[in-house]
Amino acid sequence: MRVTVIGTGYVGTVTGACLAYLGHRVTCVDTDRSKIEKLRRGEPPIYEPGLEELIVFANEHGGIDFETELESSVRESDVIFIAVGTPPLPSGESNLSYLENAARGIGAAMDSSRFRVVVNKSTVPVGSGNLVEALVREGIGESHPDLSGAVRFGVASNPEFLREGSAIHDSLYPDRIVVGADDPATLEMMRQLYGALIEQQFIEPSFAPRPANLQSAIREIPLVATTITSAEMIKYSANAFLALKIGFANEMANICERVGADVTEVMTGIGLDWRIGRGFLNAGIGWGGSCFGKDISSLLHTAAEYGYQARILEASLAVNRMQRSVVIQKLQEKLYILKGRTIALLGLAFKPNTDDLRDAPSLQIAEKLIQMGVRVRVYDPVAMNACREQYPDLRITYCMDALSAADRADALVLVTEWPEFASLNLKQLAGRMNQAVLIDGRNFFQPRQAREAGFEYAGIGRAISRPAGNGHPDARPVAAAVPSAD
Ligand code: NAD
Repeated sequence: MRVTVIGTGYVGTVTGACLAYLGHRVTCVDTDRSKIEKLRRGEPPIYEPGLEELIVFANEHGGIDFETELESSVRESDVIFIAVGTPPLPSGESNLSYLENAARGIGAAMDSSRFRVVVNKSTVPVGSGNLVEALVREGIGESHPDLSGAVRFGVASNPEFLREGSAIHDSLYPDRIVVGADDPATLEMMRQLYGALIEQQFIEPSFAPRPANLQSAIREIPLVATTITSAEMIKYSANAFLALKIGFANEMANICERVGADVTEVMTGIGLDWRIGRGFLNAGIGWGGSCFGKDISSLLHTAAEYGYQARILEASLAVNRMQRSVVIQKLQEKLYILKGRTIALLGLAFKPNTDDLRDAPSLQIAEKLIQMGVRVRVYDPVAMNACREQYPDLRITYCMDALSAADRADALVLVTEWPEFASLNLKQLAGRMNQAVLIDGRNFFQPRQAREAGFEYAGIGRAISRPAGNGHPDARPVAAAVPSAD
């Protein structure tokens, strides 16, 4: 099929490249000229493992190109994806201005030569399907009023569930594909578009191997066909629930700390119950990223529009906000006075394997520490350039590696659990520091190892000691960290 993807951010670029990899002919469009120029040179504008290679393959398979204008590709396309940003307004509601512009532009470019489907891939509040339909019609009416009645199109909602950092894997091997469509022709077109994905009829790329559960001959990705409204709600509901799970683990961690329990043991203990599941129950310094906060705020706003106060969602946001201050409290407990100290942060990105800094806990922690008179040194394997560019006024010192960040620091805070930090030589790190204090904001290190290396260690919700004879939490490996989603 001919496909246009509008927006070449984290979602649009990956979606476009994956669809081309599956054999479709894709044009990705963005109003940001610099992103398009980079993509034309084969450089993804974002850090996403495997994306550069995927774009090369995408070119060899269905073919992919990058444009700043949408007219010609929309005219030739069967399916047009909208994957633009929907950032929050101060009121919490979603800013739909990018979506609105895209929808009008699509309408203006359409002609009567074929039936097309306009797909909302952006996360958009209930009612956005109707809004897009109305704006596409407006666009058609404005640019060719004579054609208005003859232009045929359907609107679908196809929310995205990829996780930054494993976006290609998630797009090629999704748990499910949700398609909200209110007419059979639109649904059928989406079914065709995703046919090869649903049946897994494509050769797995070397950098994104097919998972074991999809290796058998009888394999199919479930397509959940719903109304547009249900599809829009599915995305918000999924993100609200995921954030809630993390918030729950954090709340349990705060109680565990007070009563002398270890939250990783507690979460493993409850997570083995299939009704609960272990995923997303890792305690830490709270979730971040561009999605959870904005989506929960948007859902709260929608609920309020309908006269409903969503108290669980309110609490979920409040618990997360509070959790970010836990690092500061722990530093105060260990160092008493923070003014004049040097504190090193390991990690800036809101989670590993991405350069995304949107709503990253690191920024809030760094700002708070600076405000308190602390000198902040940071190291992140990927996100330092993005941070320099996006926050030029942030008074932090960027370091070339973890060791130089720790040099003569009074405390080290693990903010992002980058896999490479697992191979740090903790003894060497502790030896470099003024005071070997380690606040492990992601329960990433083994407490016993950290203490043996000479650190005064504090994790999140991990009891410092327990009565003798009861076994020791450090004796067991920590449950593997579950990567977080958006
Ligand atoms: P992003 O900010 O990285 O990218 C959006 C892109 O859209 C930008 O490059 C911008 O220049 C472009 N754009 C804006 N208006 C445009 C227009 N009229 N024409 C062409 N391009 C235009 O955003 P993102 O992270 O990719 O998110 C996109 C949507 O997907 C959001 O609604 C988000 O909530 C949702 N989503 C994001 C993720 C994620 O992990 N980032 C996951 C699932 C869903």
